Amino acid sequence: MTDAESLARIEGFVFDLDGTIWEGPALLPGAAELVTALREAGLGVVFASNCSRYGGDVLCERLGKLGIEADPRDVVSAFDLVGDEIRRRLGPVPVLVVGTEELAKILREAGCHPVAEDQAADARAVIVGVDPAFSYPRLRAAARAVAGGAGFFAINLDARFPVGPDLFDPGCGSLAAAIATASGVPPIAFGKPEHPLFRVAIERIGRSAGAIAMVGDSTASDMTGGRAAGMVTIWIDSNPDTPRPPTVDLAVRDPAELLRLWRAAAPHGVRA
Ligand SMILES: [Mg+2]
Repeated sequence: MTDAESLARIEGFVFDLDGTIWEGPALLPGAAELVTALREAGLGVVFASNCSRYGGDVLCERLGKLGIEADPRDVVSAFDLVGDEIRRRLGPVPVLVVGTEELAKILREAGCHPVAEDQAADARAVIVGVDPAFSYPRLRAAARAVAGGAGFFAINLDARFPVGPDLFDPGCGSLAAAIATASGVPPIAFGKPEHPLFRVAIERIGRSAGAIAMVGDSTASDMTGGRAAGMVTIWIDSNPDTPRPPTVDLAVRDPAELLRLWRAAAPHGVRA
């Protein structure tokens, strides 16, 4: 797809959340209106987040509070993939969790046993999410475990995530990078741009990947991964002067502009 008119051929939309639907505490302009219009036209809408702190249930609730009704099946979070992925790859092993208590909880539910930092030598895997309590002793424990042969997994490799206009917090990828540098071992990631999250989102839309658009603000996660999954890629970038990367099919400033272009391309798809 190279032009906005091709939007009329898209049968389903997968939206990233941070920086695409919301930014910090507020929706981006046009986000709720866009989702409503697409749903009213009978198109599939799924939200796919690299979130490493919360599962789809929490994200779903947050969408509702901001005015976008969503069913838990409409929301896929990288956080939710961790338990299954670790169990499938390693079985119910001792793990060192570099992340929140919620992350430790889903690993426990998957049969794994979180260990304390001073028992990191027993860990068979180190799992990294966003960790507001990240510290030098935790970095040391994680790096020693990985250097000693524990599997090394990160929910995603995002360097940062937006928390407001021109404001960011360091992401899971920044913490994983510190452990990778100290241990000399690169992490395996589950979130975008890796395939598992896209596979689940595409299955939930129930159309072929080529008829589904991935809408997101991250070129490294959303655009690269969406293109690799065979989807149409739509980039949200508030700066109109940024050069469009080769993995991007269509660039828009915000959801409001995407809605305007989609309405112009698919006038019969809109009841309003
Ligand atoms: Mg994002």
